[in-house]
Amino acid sequence: MDSIDVVVIGGGQAGLAAGYFLRRSGLSYVILDAETSPGGAWQHAWESLHLFSPAGWSSIPGWPMPATREPYPSQAEVLDYLACYEHKYALPVIRPVQVERISRSGKRLLVEADDGRQWHTRAVISATGTWRRPYTPGYEGLDAFGGVQLHSAHYSHPEPFAGTRVAIIGGGNSGAQILAEVSKVAETTWITQREPAFLADDVDGRVLFARATEKWRAQQEGREPNVPEGGFGDIVMVPPVVDARRRGVLVSMTPPVRFTATGMQWADGSERNFDAVIWCTGFRPALSHLEGLGLVNAQGRIDVDDTKVRSIAEPSVWLLGYGDWNGAASATLIGVTRYAREVVRQVTACCAAACG
Ligand code: FAD
Repeated sequence: MDSIDVVVIGGGQAGLAAGYFLRRSGLSYVILDAETSPGGAWQHAWESLHLFSPAGWSSIPGWPMPATREPYPSQAEVLDYLACYEHKYALPVIRPVQVERISRSGKRLLVEADDGRQWHTRAVISATGTWRRPYTPGYEGLDAFGGVQLHSAHYSHPEPFAGTRVAIIGGGNSGAQILAEVSKVAETTWITQREPAFLADDVDGRVLFARATEKWRAQQEGREPNVPEGGFGDIVMVPPVVDARRRGVLVSMTPPVRFTATGMQWADGSERNFDAVIWCTGFRPALSHLEGLGLVNAQGRIDVDDTKVRSIAEPSVWLLGYGDWNGAASATLIGVTRYAREVVRQVTACCAAACG
């Protein structure tokens, strides 16, 4: 069994950002990642995905993302960047390692992998993202629906849907972007809980990050943030979505009351048949490895202190990169840096005070 100061779980952008600061801390540490190659969830994004902000606004600490071929980096360019990043800083990533459980072991924590490997550690930084827990809402009759069902987590390209009738459920950026390309080859219906919120055409991720920064500052200063309505869920008008609006397909309808064997039924009794449903209904934090410590609350999150990154119930566990409850914009490339720095500052102070 290895004994080490810090175990980081997850080798996506959040785990690498933590590694960058740990590298300079003098602590011994390792990054355990369940994937077989670098890039975290970006490896599973759909092929045409482009970020909604330029490279300069899509970087993790230290080395910035190099200039990209198009104004907004592609999925392949993000993967390249993250692979080169961990190589450049010689980050101690071990993969594939699937962490199954963490438990208390005297003054330390015991981290156990599914292949029997174990680490004794003073601090755990959990950076496991959300991709491994796609969320699908429940509907009456869903079990009987005979069509294809796919979550955006597993969507790759539109070709399999050519010539079919497809319902795309979800009013966020994934829903809008997948609708934009599937509607070119299939008959699509867009279903959203409420009227989708579109950002202005000239607004991209940079404005969203500026708003997130203002929220973070306001939290530090104990005041109300001075930001307009709208946030990270609002739809960024990337070129394919603008094109979908031009083609008249960017129109949504309210959800059905139930599924049928061949489609869906609405409250007024009307029905539509579909060959496939693509769920663009988001993700939940992947925290099953922390269940044994009794930290996961009824909302599937972990109660954190005022800094947003440290577990209240188990102060040797830090959380990083899970989104708003864990820090404004912490689930984005540029947004994770300030929380990674704070996590490592706290971990270093805690280890110096011999808390574990
Ligand atoms: P992940 O990338 O999911 O990495 C977590 C890692 O932990 C994975 O490698 C996983 O295998 C591993 N892991 C999980 N559980 C375990 C375990 N038990 N043991 C060991 N390893 C484990 N952000 C931007 O900044 N700009 C954008 O334009 C943008 N667009 C996006 C578009 C889409 C469609 C989506 C879904 C996200 C987008 N994001 C964007 C958000 C964000 O950058 C990604 O979600 C990002 O992948 C989150 O990084 P992470 O490191 O927190 O998690």
